[in-house]
Amino acid sequence: MKKQLSRQRMWQIAQVKKGRCAICAKKRKHYKQFCDACQAKHRELKNRLYRERRAAEKSKASKA
Ligand SMILES: [Zn+2]
Repeated sequence: MKKQLSRQRMWQIAQVKKGRCAICAKKRKHYKQFCDACQAKHRELKNRLYRERRAAEKSKASKA
């Protein structure tokens, strides 16, 4: 059974295949999916989510 991909995801995959950024479709240089600017944004977002999750787990653990 094949998983149905969203139009957005299909577009992103098509951009990556063409050697372009999956977010803004500019030419990629160093990264697998994103251009330098989008990779930096993505990294910051991931770091923020990771820190928030860690903080939530810590506060939960200290309460229990
Ligand atoms: Zn980009």
